[in-house]
Amino acid sequence: MRQPLGTVACISPWNLPLYLFTWKIAPALAAGNTVVGKPSEITPYTAWMLGALAAESGLPPGVLNIVQGRGAELGQALVEHPGIRAISFTGSTRTGASIAAAAARRFCNVSLEMGGKNPAIVLADAELSDAELDTVVRSGFANQGEICLCGSRLLVQRSIYTRFCERYLARVKALRTGDPGDASSDLGALVSRAHYDKVMAAIARAREEGGRVLCGGEALHPGGRCAQGWFVAPTVIEGLAPDCATNQEEIFGPVVSLIPFEGEGEALAIANGTGYGLAASLWTRDLDRAQRMAAALDFGIVWINGWMLRDLRTPFGGVKHSGLGREGGIEALHFFTEPKNVCIAIRSGS
Ligand code: NAD
Repeated sequence: MRQPLGTVACISPWNLPLYLFTWKIAPALAAGNTVVGKPSEITPYTAWMLGALAAESGLPPGVLNIVQGRGAELGQALVEHPGIRAISFTGSTRTGASIAAAAARRFCNVSLEMGGKNPAIVLADAELSDAELDTVVRSGFANQGEICLCGSRLLVQRSIYTRFCERYLARVKALRTGDPGDASSDLGALVSRAHYDKVMAAIARAREEGGRVLCGGEALHPGGRCAQGWFVAPTVIEGLAPDCATNQEEIFGPVVSLIPFEGEGEALAIANGTGYGLAASLWTRDLDRAQRMAAALDFGIVWINGWMLRDLRTPFGGVKHSGLGREGGIEALHFFTEPKNVCIAIRSGS
């Protein structure tokens, strides 16, 4: 039989605050556990609303408990608490490592969804339609690049590099950054001053590393209601070696680095050549090649001719420094339950 674990902790980040929180809470409750949910201290409000709605809907007290506080204090206390039987975490690799260490000390199950440095690979035979090219653009800049799945390294086969860049840059330059409440805005503000400083420092470092900024690279000031917001123009950089810091470290903002490659082998070496392994996307008309490359890509998710197509029944998660364990469907139900082997000896003659 599979039995619920008891009380589990669900800890989530700020970038998709309600969506990622509910991905954890729903299967944990469905499997019969009670939950202590901790949203990011930067985005507490939607989690508070979820708690209020859960109470209003008649969920018995104590089944879903939403606690608010800082990671270093409340989060740490939660992961060290002996009453917590499993920890489902989404956030940075650094925090994930500290949670894994705390969990190991008391042999507590952990599922870790962490950072990424995802490649989008465009092969010469991709023949991207305008709609497909829009998806490639979105894969870099959706939610201002503040999605763990965003493709921040855009690998383009050298034989189509110049033509591809022309079409791609024209689209990126046409993106509108402004009030996120305005339906015509493509990008809104970054989440905080501290994160804005981190993204701007990463752009400055890319310049120091010899990168050429082809568009963006600066702050924007839309004014009005958004005068206090931290806006960064969608930024595309080229000319950086695959192993430089810009192409190795997660920036988590509207910054894409263009990297040309000669053939399939080089594309795979560059794509796999980071410590992360969350998601890759691959654009080609040759499905044999796509499947061969998908098998060789060291990532938990590979999208072929698409991005962020997500069926909640499929396994979701990364390898290497991007994750441990999987969320979604049966994987989540397994994580939040313990298998027990109950063996009945049949008595002869009875
Ligand atoms: P973060 O690691 O700073 O915080 C995530 C959560 O952990 C927050 O609720 C925080 O309060 C809590 N926390 C911090 N220190 C803790 C500790 N010592 N013990 C317990 N909990 C602690 O991450 P963030 O800045 O909020 O989110 C951005 C990161 O999340 C990026 O690296 C991004 O790639 C990653 N992310 C990954 C996925 C994925 O599915 N793989 C999805 C979204 C975001």
